[in-house]
Amino acid sequence: MSSAPVLLWFRQDLRLADHRALAAAIAAARPIVPVFVLDDETPSEWRMGGASRWWLHQSLAALSRDLERLGSRLVLRRGQAIDVLETLAEETGAEAVYASRCYEPRARRLEDHIARRFEAIGKTFRRFAGGLLFEPEVPTTKAGEPFRVFTPFYKACLALDPPKAPLPRPDKRLPSPESWPGSDDLEDWELLPTKPDWAGGMRETWEPGEAGAEKRLLRFLDMAMAGYSDKRNRPDIEGTSRLSPHLHFGDISPHRCWHAVEERLASADDGRGESGGRSFLRELVWREFSYHLLFHWPDLPEKAFRPEFEDFPWDEDATALAAWQRGRTGYPIVDAGMRELWETGWMHNRVRMVTASFLIKHLLIPWQAGEDWFWDTLVDADLASNSASWQWVAGSGADAAPYFRIFNPMLQSKKFDPKGDYIRRYVPELAELPTEHLHAPWEASADVLKAAGVKLGESYPKPLVDHGLARKRALEAYEVIRRAER
Ligand code: FAD
Repeated sequence: MSSAPVLLWFRQDLRLADHRALAAAIAAARPIVPVFVLDDETPSEWRMGGASRWWLHQSLAALSRDLERLGSRLVLRRGQAIDVLETLAEETGAEAVYASRCYEPRARRLEDHIARRFEAIGKTFRRFAGGLLFEPEVPTTKAGEPFRVFTPFYKACLALDPPKAPLPRPDKRLPSPESWPGSDDLEDWELLPTKPDWAGGMRETWEPGEAGAEKRLLRFLDMAMAGYSDKRNRPDIEGTSRLSPHLHFGDISPHRCWHAVEERLASADDGRGESGGRSFLRELVWREFSYHLLFHWPDLPEKAFRPEFEDFPWDEDATALAAWQRGRTGYPIVDAGMRELWETGWMHNRVRMVTASFLIKHLLIPWQAGEDWFWDTLVDADLASNSASWQWVAGSGADAAPYFRIFNPMLQSKKFDPKGDYIRRYVPELAELPTEHLHAPWEASADVLKAAGVKLGESYPKPLVDHGLARKRALEAYEVIRRAER
């Protein structure tokens, strides 16, 4: 075995199974030095938010334990990745760095920079396919252009070679260097909130790391996949996989999820679960589409995809924004969603759409303000999916919802939380209201409110805006776009 080690640079791939860079490092038959670099000092618009930092801590701790079981370690270093990797290469005598690709604009620039620097010093930087089923430059239209519309993108992906089968998790000891370089202590990175410790709900809800991701996947296959098409829009039941934070941090690969669903479908000879499984795979491709957009339009997180939205007459109302953030808009479904987010670091997709639409269309607050809040509070905060989804709701994005379609929060609530279980869970001050009044408490009589112990304006807010007036105001504001389109 050559004694020059390989630095295995972990990024958004915090797992051991289905890890192409790790498999290549093992195949190279050299000592492996696994390393994670925290670069949170370089100024960046998209510095990791609080909920993501909590997840990162847990996921790194899990990865570190998993590596130790294989006789290895996770070396933690803080600083600019390029400098840290160069220093580590000098300290260990490593000739090569192996890493999975990341696809965010800053990460891509960094990779190019590292590749040039390492070439200049006579070392190798090898990049492997990262956390996507299809590399974002591969699907193109017949004219060789990137896609702007989901359905043709989806069809193009299905026409490519199917996603590669996942690689097994290594079961033998990983070759170690003769001596280990020093490592930071994870606790010293202070990724966890302490003053105050707001992560209690997240600890109860999630098990970050590879083992937790695998449990979520199996639970989804056993309990939710068959009914996914019907139940995926219901926030009151566990109808979706909740794999998003695991996929974001790479606790699990999308290939593993894809093939697990395919295998489950193939083994069910009665066709059970076919429609649920297929629609889940389609959602995984929505994730790919978001990355495809971000890859080709790197200013997607900041700038409206459709330029006519630049002149939109937004209303920067800080008080209304704070009420939305804290779940105090007076619209129960919106408040339940915002409180679910605050408590657990996650929100159901249907409710993400309703709360985002409320912020943008009922309050006319710029979508970027909502995007920022989600960025800070979601455990699955993801530059591609978050920005593409916010623009989708605003109507300013690629293949977006028509901007003149304005969600009616009461109808959404009645349809997708029919018994009010979701609202009762996250807005307990309304729990005693009869279901028919739960979606719009301001319409209940004084007697009904009194019997349920609700005092509007005191125990629960009155609606921040009137739905009818807000709808009218939004349509007038969107006239700017309509005129620009003519
Ligand atoms: P499932 O329904 O089980 O779907 C499986 C996987 O498919 C998800 O884990 C996710 O990776 C992917 N997926 C599903 N729906 C979408 C979608 N619409 N767009 C892209 N990928 C999708 N998702 C994020 O991962 N990070 C974000 O920061 C994010 N921000 C969002 C902001 C807004 C305003 C909206 C409307 C949606 C956002 N989404 C985001 C997409 C979606 O809400 C979540 O991916 C989904 O709720 C995750 O739950 P799940 O894992 O149970 O999904």
